[in-house]
Amino acid sequence: MTLDEIWGLKFLGKSYHDECIRWAEDQLCAGIDAPSVRNLARLGVAGRPDRSKIEHFFVHALQELGESRPDRDSGLRRYALFLCHQIIDRRRDPEQAANQLADINRYECDNASIYSLWHRVVEDIHLLYRGDYAYENSDLTLKNKNSFIEKLARHFILLLNNNVPGDFLSLSVCKSCQKLVRTQYRPLSGENPLQELLIKVGLKQPKYATVCASCGSRDVTHLYSNEQRENALALLGK
Ligand SMILES: [Zn+2]
Repeated sequence: MTLDEIWGLKFLGKSYHDECIRWAEDQLCAGIDAPSVRNLARLGVAGRPDRSKIEHFFVHALQELGESRPDRDSGLRRYALFLCHQIIDRRRDPEQAANQLADINRYECDNASIYSLWHRVVEDIHLLYRGDYAYENSDLTLKNKNSFIEKLARHFILLLNNNVPGDFLSLSVCKSCQKLVRTQYRPLSGENPLQELLIKVGLKQPKYATVCASCGSRDVTHLYSNEQRENALALLGK
């Protein structure tokens, strides 16, 4: 049991007290000893220990070992990294871990957050179990779901380690600007002066398209796939 997992559970409002005891037991097994670590491990032998006692000894154990509580964002980020590595190392059922990663998005309630990638996979797996097609991940099937999740875990570690901006998924790559840009869905100007005039006087409806908000180019690529997102990582900061 690692602190990363405990902080993740705590920040997501889940039960983490049994995990604190297992963490203390693991510390002792690894030869890391401190009075509160021993007290915490001892509670595990005592049957159904009081949660306030666990909390008390856990806080003191952290102090004795010089550990500090991370802020919420970095705590969840470390929890996500931990889960992704568990998937890759085949130490946790991929679908179960994907659900746990999707919980971070449920907690954040943010559709543009990178954690929403996991939410979309979990939703698609539910659709597949019902006999429907995957909606967001068209190449996901019940047969390939484990390798699909493993690929996403490797990709997700890259995203986390590159500290992508909070709105990363809503950005696009503009070929003209050669950078990550916001896009707009807006009316296009007429193809010639006559068309332009007809649009202006209301005799013709303009065409609409998604364009780069900086230069107006229509040559923009959305970040829908692992490959598109990994190509975009090289343009971060430009
Ligand atoms: Zn542009």
